[in-house]
Amino acid sequence: MTTLTAHNETTGAPFYRLTAADRCDSCGAQAYIAAEVNGSELLFCAHHGRKYEEKLRAVATSWHDETARLNDEA
Ligand SMILES: [Zn+2]
Repeated sequence: MTTLTAHNETTGAPFYRLTAADRCDSCGAQAYIAAEVNGSELLFCAHHGRKYEEKLRAVATSWHDETARLNDEA
């Protein structure tokens, strides 16, 4: 597991920074979307990220979406 992280850092492979330890602020599921709003980061699972995306994108200063990983891992 640790070698995978080091590998990504050295090769510049697709950068995924959310881990299983990052949980959705709404339901506690694993987070795949991170939005920065007013200097604080909000984390959402794919379901709630999509649900709140329209509202959040209007106010978020950054939008980080890793939901593509869900397809990769399927
Ligand atoms: Zn959720």
